[in-house]
Amino acid sequence: MSAPPVLSVVIPVYNEEAVLGELFARLYPALDALATAYEVIFVNDGSRDRSPALLLDQQQRRADVTRVILFSGNFGQHSAILAGFAHVRGEIIVTLDADLQNPPEEIHKLLAAYREGHDYVGSIRDLRRGDAWWRGAASKLLNRIRERTTRIKMTDQGCMLRAYSRRIIDLVNQTREVRTFIPALAYTFAMNPTEVVVAHAERAAGESKYSVYQLLRLNFDLMTGFSLVPLQMFSLLGMAVAIGSALTYLGLIAYRLLTLPPWDAFKALFDRDILEFFLIGMVLFGLGLVGEYVGRIYLQVRDRPRYVIDRVVETTAEFPPGATDITSASHLA
Ligand code: UDP
Ligand code: MG
Repeated sequence: MSAPPVLSVVIPVYNEEAVLGELFARLYPALDALATAYEVIFVNDGSRDRSPALLLDQQQRRADVTRVILFSGNFGQHSAILAGFAHVRGEIIVTLDADLQNPPEEIHKLLAAYREGHDYVGSIRDLRRGDAWWRGAASKLLNRIRERTTRIKMTDQGCMLRAYSRRIIDLVNQTREVRTFIPALAYTFAMNPTEVVVAHAERAAGESKYSVYQLLRLNFDLMTGFSLVPLQMFSLLGMAVAIGSALTYLGLIAYRLLTLPPWDAFKALFDRDILEFFLIGMVLFGLGLVGEYVGRIYLQVRDRPRYVIDRVVETTAEFPPGATDITSASHLA
């Protein structure tokens, strides 16, 4: 391959023999038209059809700009993209689905936004033709919940056509998460994210690889992957119940001591209902407490970078005071 590319396009492929021909026919001209050195990395996610053969054939045809990674089995779309990330050499990294739902002709819009200084360019599908209405409604609701619990702002989480800076991809490569949702993970590392509207088509051929169950799973991953709120809600609830019942218990005892004869009041200390209520509260709280620790373990094992440095400003021999550092000056502008 020739000089290192500026743009790297990563495409996960799983049983896409029906669309690959059209994808090649549209992707390469669209990329050539950008007049930017590029590379395409296809990751075959254990397809059981002719996809790998088609990819290898295409690699031969455009060996100057094409690389193919073959998985030994099906590890999922996000694992495939991560494998692509581990191999990209460009400074701008674009992800794209193989099925042409995101037209490759739209990549230039992402590039334009990137060159305006955004390090993360998400995309919003122009219209969701062909999707059942309940899918639209469900995704809106899930979007709302996600934004509330994770602080990740993404208008259209289902759209994989996105551009990332090299810095973000390096950070993504540093994390060691087992299941993740790449656009969200990358978003947490972005300094200047933006979104652009892109055209959206129906899948060109073949079938969606996601069932409703898998979509649900994906959203659980998203929520539990980026927020401890579900865990913490539990311990807060337990605490509320325990405190509430303890107060009621104390109040009741005080009331009975004041109003009942001593022996009856003493018996009332062992009021089963209120004790049970209290104990359930304690159990819930205990469970929540365990959850808090599990949450800490979870954060620890995930091993995400703890912070992200924009840049370090210092005066060194290379740039003594007074000398103008052109690059940082243009950054500040
Ligand atoms: N894909 C993959 N591994 C999988 C499932 C999907 O690499 O296990 C790829 C698939 O080939 C496509 C992209 O991920 O390029 C998105 O899949 P699909 O179009 O089926 O998802 P949908 O658009 O229906 O959400
Ligand atoms: Mg699709």
